[in-house]
Amino acid sequence: MSAAQDLDALYQEIILDHYKNPHGKGLREPAAAQRSADVHHVNPTCGDEITLRVHVEGEPGSERVADVSYDAVGCSISQASASVLHELLVGKTIDEAMNVHGEFLALMQGKGTVEPDEEVLEDGIAFAGVAKFPARVKCALLSWMAWKDATVQARG
Ligand code: ZN
Repeated sequence: MSAAQDLDALYQEIILDHYKNPHGKGLREPAAAQRSADVHHVNPTCGDEITLRVHVEGEPGSERVADVSYDAVGCSISQASASVLHELLVGKTIDEAMNVHGEFLALMQGKGTVEPDEEVLEDGIAFAGVAKFPARVKCALLSWMAWKDATVQARG
């Protein structure tokens, strides 16, 4: 195998692992003193759906992502992406999380030309391969768009 094929195989393995063992799946009730918002997003071109709830805590200006809980149906890419999102964003301040969100968006909209930063995106680098396929980009972005939508609402 070439180096590029090795990388594609590694990316596929990461996505499959998150698909089989999703992090943070299931809708959870926010704890006292947390604010939350629910959204439902659909990707009609593939049939992916997600109901996503963001729990936010802390004072305005230093709010944190306390939890992201979700129920999702659809393809392996959409579901693995929600799992990676949970792993990457929970515990971060909203400003930090928005920064990671921006990096992931840039990667997915880069048509395969953006070199992913593993320091920032961790397992999210696996979607670099998906970025080359326009039809699948929406699958990978579904949960990320839902997260941003819910977070804006939860902040109030
Ligand atoms: Zn899909």
